[in-house]
Amino acid sequence: MKMQVKPIPTISDRINEIRMLTADIVNKEILPNERTLWAWRGDSRYTKADIEESKALRKRIQDKVHEAGLWAPHLPQEYGGAGLDFLEHAYMNEVLAYVQGGAALFGVVAPNSGNQTILVKYGTEEQKKKWLIPLIEGKMQSGFSMTEPDSAGSDPRSIKTTARRDGDEWVINGHKWFTSNGKAADFFIVMCRTEDPDGPADRNGKMTQIIVPKETPGVNVIRGIPIWSQRDSDHCEIIYDDVRVPVTNQLGQTGSGHAAAQDRLGAGRIFHCMNSIGQMWRAFDLMVERIMTREVHGGLLETKQFMQGFIADSYIDIQAARLMTIHTAEKIESGADPRTDISAIKVFVPSAYERVVDRAIQVWGAAGVSGDLPLAGMYQGARTLRIADGPDEVHRILIAKNILKRYHDGMGWDFGN
Ligand SMILES: Cc1cc2nc3c(=O)[nH]c(=O)nc-3n(C[C@H](O)[C@H](O)[C@H](O)COP(=O)(O)OP(=O)(O)OC[C@H]3O[C@@H](n4cnc5c(N)ncnc54)[C@H](O)[C@@H]3O)c2cc1C
Repeated sequence: MKMQVKPIPTISDRINEIRMLTADIVNKEILPNERTLWAWRGDSRYTKADIEESKALRKRIQDKVHEAGLWAPHLPQEYGGAGLDFLEHAYMNEVLAYVQGGAALFGVVAPNSGNQTILVKYGTEEQKKKWLIPLIEGKMQSGFSMTEPDSAGSDPRSIKTTARRDGDEWVINGHKWFTSNGKAADFFIVMCRTEDPDGPADRNGKMTQIIVPKETPGVNVIRGIPIWSQRDSDHCEIIYDDVRVPVTNQLGQTGSGHAAAQDRLGAGRIFHCMNSIGQMWRAFDLMVERIMTREVHGGLLETKQFMQGFIADSYIDIQAARLMTIHTAEKIESGADPRTDISAIKVFVPSAYERVVDRAIQVWGAAGVSGDLPLAGMYQGARTLRIADGPDEVHRILIAKNILKRYHDGMGWDFGN
């Protein structure tokens, strides 16, 4: 089934053009090849020839994305990106996420994309030349190393990894885990607590991001942490043991690390939510398709009211998630304070995604949990999203705090703004 994308009357011509161009590539190039696009070494289902063919196919699609001017929507044109503004990128994401691996085919893969955005904003010219350009050109890979086993990731200001200044070098010591892309990465952006020789610094002030090449002595990638019963993954546990890097590897001012992390995560949450919506859309299409064609107990599933309820509830979940996310994106674009809305979508969208995929799996029965359909992977992804980028509880607390503050200040909440 193709993704149904038509121009939306209430948005700009440019956004419509981007959505239609993206949908064209999704429908014509990616969907018909989805089963053969991601053949990997180490997967016994594929021969060497399959792997070569899938690599060539990915390259052909990526060339088409380049030709359409859609490559790397998060980057300015001067860095080889599509130069899209915030809303254009948000609307594009719901379309490209309809297919498995859409992000890689459109050049916007986390954590590289987040690191690129941070390097564009905080990097010196020298850092851009050395790290950003090769990252964009695909000649390098990267990771973002913030979460630690011994401190709460949901309170990032509690990190224990230190960077001590010694002459022209930072000396880094710490234990991180869940650094995604850890095996492939050529460098990490490591969140450190920098020791301030000018006296006691506050909890926020000391956080600094430092670029650490993986080859540096003392960087020990211990293991890929098994996720969802996989034997291995590229989410890595890493020990930084007296790792010395030049002070010129520091990103931005000393103490700007927390603000940079918020820059990365704030806008990123909109893009993640639009991705989730694209994937819910796909799960919905798969579900409805099956409901219309599967016969059980003497009738098509579409005649059963339980199944009709699945369709209705999933429609409501997707529309609510989509409109909330677009409202938040518009708030960011207009310069209004979006923090409450960002937290609201960070809670609502992954759980709506989880519900929609759960129903689609139920409708497909055993096939739903098999590797023949993308649903099982989506389900795991949706569940993981409720933890990564700030768990649900942290965002709920933030929403309540912002709302209570308004009411304590003698105001109510204006849901229209
Ligand atoms: C697949 C995957 C990829 C990841 N990739 C990266 C990466 O590339 N780089 C990186 O640095 N990190 C990464 N992470 C880590 C992720 O950001 C953290 O797991 C997340 O921030 C939560 O931190 P934690 O696991 O330490 O949970 P904790 O902080 O220990 O929290 C545990 C639970 O406590 C509850 N909780 C927390 N605070 C409160 C509160 N105030 N009140 C009530 N309950 C609360 C929540 O339910 C929460 O889930 C990744 C995680 C996953 C699963």
